[in-house]
Amino acid sequence: MKILVTGGTGFIGSALVDLLLEQGHQVTIVSRQTQRKGAFAGKESAQLSWLYWDFSKRQDETAPVIESHDAVINLAGEGIADKRWTAQRKQLLRQSRIDFTRNLIQWLKGQSWKPDHWLNASAIGYYGAGKEQVTEESSQGNDFAASLCGDWEQLVDEQIDWPCRTVLMRFGVVLGHGGMLKKLKPSFALGMGAKLGSGRQGFSWVHLEDLLAAVVWLFDNPDIEGAVNITAPKFVDNSEFTQVFASVLHRPAWMTMPPFLLKMMFGEMAETLLLSGQWVYPKRLELSGFTFKYPDINTALDDLFR
Ligand code: NDP
Repeated sequence: MKILVTGGTGFIGSALVDLLLEQGHQVTIVSRQTQRKGAFAGKESAQLSWLYWDFSKRQDETAPVIESHDAVINLAGEGIADKRWTAQRKQLLRQSRIDFTRNLIQWLKGQSWKPDHWLNASAIGYYGAGKEQVTEESSQGNDFAASLCGDWEQLVDEQIDWPCRTVLMRFGVVLGHGGMLKKLKPSFALGMGAKLGSGRQGFSWVHLEDLLAAVVWLFDNPDIEGAVNITAPKFVDNSEFTQVFASVLHRPAWMTMPPFLLKMMFGEMAETLLLSGQWVYPKRLELSGFTFKYPDINTALDDLFR
């Protein structure tokens, strides 16, 4: 298959591109960079091409023409938890997903070919903070993260007007050597790991390897369309996650981050992403017969850090 991947230089995207290349696919990475950086610096492969273009800012006739691709995997977006959610930051979070995707689809409409499959990133943030026992049938939440995910998904549904299977992949927190754990590891390694507030808020996560396997599964099962939760079946609470992560690093974690401090440091983001958890179940993946290699937090963190 020929697959166009946006966000292919990121934490999830670079691992996914490696896997797709390993499986013999042809991949084109869409990137704002003007040269290969990070995971792909100096890496040459006849199966890998690049399209250097910033669709979040640019929608004009000079956008390049490229040859036909069978599928798009759309992962691009500014890191949701990277910085405090100021009005300007919220604008950038939306622009890098919603404007980007709108311009990308517009550009595709001008190409002589159209992809048959569109796999779009989204997040369990769709359901809103503080929700329990969530499946794909649950309703949309009403906080900022929920509207960001909901508007992104709606745009994909509305703007793709050619025959195309679309899948909206609602990722849980992805556990691997990048992303959230990369940020948390230094403090946990110093024995400064701390539960957040009461620690009773749900933490829905997925091991990166299972996420990649799920994406391959979605390609192999073209009857699956629409929203799909990509989260491990055994969610935990923040307290259990904190204890298990500290223990695989052989460190204690007896501290608590008080809510007022988190709110002072991270504002609205603390309330939504850190203090109000979610308990999300991957109902559609499980019903389709997908099996997780790392269904529980112990085996996942053990694999990554022991
Ligand atoms: P990364 O931040 O590692 O990578 C995202 C990629 O998006 C970057 O490599 C970059 O590519 C591109 N990008 C970043 N900012 C912009 C911008 N302003 N305009 C256009 N493109 C931009 O993200 P992840 O790999 O962690 O996540 C991929 C997707 O999955 C994201 O949409 C994220 O929201 C979603 N997700 C991730 C979760 C996680 O735990 N990691 C959880 C839930 C959802 P380049 O520099 O090459 O242009």
